[in-house]
Amino acid sequence: MTTPITIIGAGLGGLTLARVLHVHGIAATIYEAEPSAQARTQGGQLDIHTDDGQVALAAAGLTDEFRAIIHHGAEALRMLTPQGAVLREEPDDGTAARPEVLRGDLRRILIDSLPDGTIRWGHKVREVRPLDGGRHEVAFTDGSTVTADLVVGADGAWSKVRPLLSDAVPEYIGTTFIETYLYDVDAHHPASAAAVGDGAMYALTPGTGITAHREAGDIVHTYVQLNRSAEWIAGIDFTDAATATARIAEEFEGWAPELTALLTDGESAPVPRMIHTLPDGHRWDRVAGVTLLGDAAHLMPPSGDGANLAMLDGAELAQAIAAHPGDVEAALAAYEARLFTRSTAAYADAREVLELCLGERAPFGLIEMFSGAGVN
Ligand SMILES: Cc1cc2nc3c(=O)[nH]c(=O)nc-3n(C[C@H](O)[C@H](O)[C@H](O)COP(=O)(O)OP(=O)(O)OC[C@H]3O[C@@H](n4cnc5c(N)ncnc54)[C@H](O)[C@@H]3O)c2cc1C
Repeated sequence: MTTPITIIGAGLGGLTLARVLHVHGIAATIYEAEPSAQARTQGGQLDIHTDDGQVALAAAGLTDEFRAIIHHGAEALRMLTPQGAVLREEPDDGTAARPEVLRGDLRRILIDSLPDGTIRWGHKVREVRPLDGGRHEVAFTDGSTVTADLVVGADGAWSKVRPLLSDAVPEYIGTTFIETYLYDVDAHHPASAAAVGDGAMYALTPGTGITAHREAGDIVHTYVQLNRSAEWIAGIDFTDAATATARIAEEFEGWAPELTALLTDGESAPVPRMIHTLPDGHRWDRVAGVTLLGDAAHLMPPSGDGANLAMLDGAELAQAIAAHPGDVEAALAAYEARLFTRSTAAYADAREVLELCLGERAPFGLIEMFSGAGVN
């Protein structure tokens, strides 16, 4: 079977690519490893930026749908000391420069905007092999294959498409986020809910911090952040939630109970997210018939921009394909030139944000940034 434009991965980047192609009357097929749209809870709230995520959604013709899923009030921000004293507080003034939405809602409006059959669920790519003339054969773990004129790796950090273009592999940067959730927070966790406030809460010190976000539906979503070695993390048995929680809590001795409760009262087992990145400014030489977008192209430290960048990549790739009918190589060259420039700058920003959050001056560099630039 042949699917001329073959996108691997139905994350926000791959979905935006397919949607913007559809807006331009160009068909594409997405192959996604997960068995269905509902297979995995798409956790987390994302702020959607005016210069990338919102641009992509406008190109996708989905601005109204996006406005309908905004979680109003969530742009409030507070920074606390480990003992819970307020260092800085910003209300959500309703201007919503960076509106917050649930990742699952955003994914749903993109999925719903695609023609039936665009996404082939339950297709996990094993490898992609070059054929003659810039075509590729995509092999799935169930033994089936498809042939593609263009393959786009939108398959995230551990992309199976990337090896066609680059030898780079993600490396651990020495920071791990441990993710927990509290539910029905006003009723069951009032002290922690009050500490977090209506939006985002940051309690940061050099190498150790807690950030939490109040999400739609009375939920608080927390990332406990630790600069620790891979060996240190490997020494914690996360299959034993209670022991893992107790071990991590030891790193927060002396912190306010309403902050440590974000971890110790967690109603979901703590999930370690070891932060890996590709080399700064990751790029590749042009290879016929294949390209990358999103985390597959430029996995960088989390700075609140990765999903936004993936969507903009998808939108710009679609627009480049539409602008170069019959000449996919010209489209890919134009797309990659912009991609590499943008992602080089974004890597620098992401490193800086991580340094502000957990570096030697934490949290004061971040406070200065918010004071100088405003909360945007
Ligand atoms: C802790 C943390 C917090 C973050 N917070 C934010 C934030 O607040 N704001 C923000 O903008 N960004 C944030 N990010 C970054 C953001 O999550 C990513 O940059 C974004 O999801 C990348 O989108 P993507 O479409 O490139 O890849 P992904 O979202 O990873 O999607 C890839 C898709 O490909 C599928 N896939 C993978 N392998 C295969 C295969 N072999 N075959 C078929 N399908 C496959 C996956 O199932 C998935 O559906 C955060 C990241 C982390 C780690």
